Amino acid sequence: MSNVLVFLESTNNGIKKSSLELLSAAKNSGRNVLACAFGESSKAAAEEAGKYGAAKAFICSDAKLNDYNSELYSALAVQAIKDSSADLVLASSSMLARDLFPRVAAKLDAAVTSDCTDLELTADNINVKKPLYSGKCKAQVELSADIKIVLMRANQLPVNELADGTAEVVELSAPEIDLKTLIKEVVKGTSEKLDLTEANIIVSGGRGMRDPEGYKILEPLAETLNATLGATRAIVDDGWVPHNMQVGQTGKTVAPTLYIACGISGAIQHLAGMSGSKVIVAINKDPEAPIFKKANYGLVGDVFDIVPKLTEEFKAIL
Ligand SMILES: Cc1cc2nc3c(=O)[nH]c(=O)nc-3n(C[C@H](O)[C@H](O)[C@H](O)COP(=O)(O)OP(=O)(O)OC[C@H]3O[C@@H](n4cnc5c(N)ncnc54)[C@H](O)[C@@H]3O)c2cc1C
Repeated sequence: MSNVLVFLESTNNGIKKSSLELLSAAKNSGRNVLACAFGESSKAAAEEAGKYGAAKAFICSDAKLNDYNSELYSALAVQAIKDSSADLVLASSSMLARDLFPRVAAKLDAAVTSDCTDLELTADNINVKKPLYSGKCKAQVELSADIKIVLMRANQLPVNELADGTAEVVELSAPEIDLKTLIKEVVKGTSEKLDLTEANIIVSGGRGMRDPEGYKILEPLAETLNATLGATRAIVDDGWVPHNMQVGQTGKTVAPTLYIACGISGAIQHLAGMSGSKVIVAINKDPEAPIFKKANYGLVGDVFDIVPKLTEEFKAIL
């Protein structure tokens, strides 16, 4: 039976949902499921991974690995892949993984594809697709190397129910490398909300929100829906909100179940980051706005009329 290694990323609340999706897909494929995780949270991650079907977890719980360092992580990931004899590696298409796995692929002469939205995995076959041209079409990707690495967008796959299970833990030692780069400080965002790339629901605003005060009417809506707030580059460039909230070609690629676009025209560079959303709702006063071509549901009207009413309606039913 072939071995599939799932690279786990965690938050303070445990393994990220995007990683659980991959553990579930691996388990459902009938392959031998292995996991790897780095940093002090990796012990807890290994325990949790066992409940999602991982038979073995390769971890390095050294505190040196708490923050991402490409040299340390790539050396460890290569070791985990070799030690696990995995011929398939699954990871979420996070910023971290998109930096890490091309390095790993280069070291192992492996094939890597990122930003995938479709994964059909059986014991002896893999079918992977990724969107191209801002989601206008999908490419079927053939990975021809012996080791295949697939990075999946979040929120694309179901998560299995928790079951009983324990992963055997293999502790790897932190590589002794003369580091060329050293991270001195990591400044974490203060938001309690899920990162945009992980979010299941996103309420996003653009220049149609008029000004930073106007943008704030999205907060109660996001709060009610337990959504993460997003933005277009136009308002990020104008300093209304920080860059980590930008969705699009030069911002984050998101794939929520629901994306509510408020006062957003739907420029191609914005669509590039959000067209993988399952359901798109657009609110715009211009019926010709390009966003309506992508939207599943369109509300033509003033955001300042519609958003407060929507918020009240949701409050009443949720
Ligand atoms: C190289 C490059 C990279 C880029 N990368 C990104 C990126 O990553 N992300 C990104 O978003 N953009 C990106 N852009 C910018 C992009 O081209 C657009 O300029 C930007 O997305 C427009 O933002 P917007 O929709 O907020 O503003 P606008 O295009 O100005 O649209 C505002 C919309 O609000 C509507 N509106 C106005 N008032 C109201 C109201 N009261 N009620 C309802 N609707 C209203 C208008 O009808 C209009 O459709 C990039 C551009 C370039 C050149």
